[in-house]
Amino acid sequence: MTVDAAAEFLDVPPFPASGFATLADRIAALLGTGGDVLLVQGEAIVALEAVAASLAAPTVHALNIATSPYGALFGGWLRRGGASVTDLRPAVAGRPIAIEAVASAFAADTGINAVALAHAESATGMLNPLAEIAALARARGALVIVDAVASVGGHALDMDALGVDVAVIGPQKALGGSSGLSAVALARRVWPFLDRPGATADSILSLMDHKRLWLDRGRGALPGMPSALEFRALDAALARIEAEGIDAAVARHDRAARAVRASLPKLGVDPWVENLAEASALVTAAVLPDRIDRAAFLDALPLGATGIDAAIGEPGGRVVRINHTGSRADREPVLASVTAFGLTLRRCGAGPDVDGAVAAAAETFDWFD
Ligand SMILES: *Cc1c(COP(=O)(O)O)cnc(C)c1O
Repeated sequence: MTVDAAAEFLDVPPFPASGFATLADRIAALLGTGGDVLLVQGEAIVALEAVAASLAAPTVHALNIATSPYGALFGGWLRRGGASVTDLRPAVAGRPIAIEAVASAFAADTGINAVALAHAESATGMLNPLAEIAALARARGALVIVDAVASVGGHALDMDALGVDVAVIGPQKALGGSSGLSAVALARRVWPFLDRPGATADSILSLMDHKRLWLDRGRGALPGMPSALEFRALDAALARIEAEGIDAAVARHDRAARAVRASLPKLGVDPWVENLAEASALVTAAVLPDRIDRAAFLDALPLGATGIDAAIGEPGGRVVRINHTGSRADREPVLASVTAFGLTLRRCGAGPDVDGAVAAAAETFDWFD
């Protein structure tokens, strides 16, 4: 980096103390909630751990829907804090949870008072049935805690309408922002669960500290030394999504997912998640033909950003994913990915219809535009 280029990152004036509340309010609007929004200075994994650490208590009996590696971590943090946790995994790793499985878990255990799940994820491109799960949980009076890090900006998430009590977000996925700052949105009814004797306090993981040191003091200065760069980056990510409109951004991700999916039959590969309604709009995962080795396929990809890599966590090691998150959720990156996918399949000895695949993807965009 040149000294001139470096200057942009140095001697950065502090983010104005009056600006934090505005950022929180803008996030609340994005998530459709009249609840509180806390700004967590750390990547989203820190915010997720803070939620678990602050909520966990022997009185908490959680159904932890572990469809992603983050879900497994979340269950562990709850247990560490003394909660009893039932982990619920999909029948096949990397697929969404079936609503019937959630209903059975509720029926089998009337003591469940909290449900945790990831909304969508990019490891294998699946989408959990959040609305149905939230409805089941609300009927039981259980708290609904959602990891929306990957989904925010890529899927509609209307917290209050859905009855989501806690949502954790980060700007680094569909919003295309910086990962150093994240947020926890909470319905007000959650505070009594957090405000109890023995609650985590004087800790980076304490949501009650946020309440005491920021919310209750009128949402002015944040404690410590907030990173001005990260707050400016969050401001920028919010400004961009507001200019586009959250609904338009969600529609753009949906269109990208449909376009990639439309190309797969021509490429001769199957989608990993069969139904579009159960697939995340962030990445599309596809199963390679039996005779193509995944490592060889990945090695044969063209140089440069194809948006194609190995899926994570599905059994069998035969699945690759095409990333269409954030700025990649657009016509040119999608067509480039489909082309790269097709040409690489051909290099590996398969007989894809590359032109047909690109045309199918392009038609999806043109139909919508
Ligand atoms: C990316 C992601 C996270 C956490 O992201 P970090 O970048 O590790 O902070 C959490 N949950 C889900 C579902 C994600 O996709």
